[in-house]
Amino acid sequence: MAEDQVLTCRDCGAEYVFTSGEQEFFAEREFTPPTRCPACRRARKASRSADSGNFREQRPERNSSGGNRQRRY
Ligand SMILES: [Zn+2]
Repeated sequence: MAEDQVLTCRDCGAEYVFTSGEQEFFAEREFTPPTRCPACRRARKASRSADSGNFREQRPERNSSGGNRQRRY
């Protein structure tokens, strides 16, 4: 069982907890661990959706079967 980790946000330098539950969640989905604190993640998400006044659909390439998964973090 993993232990909680204290990570440092690379944007604001704040420390935040990456809990064992979250680690499992990320590992199961093969996500890369977050590098930002929850507040910065929210801020980034908010600014991203604010930017997309001209909303572009992101569609993953279907033809390239392979390791190119989209990662959110
Ligand atoms: Zn932060």
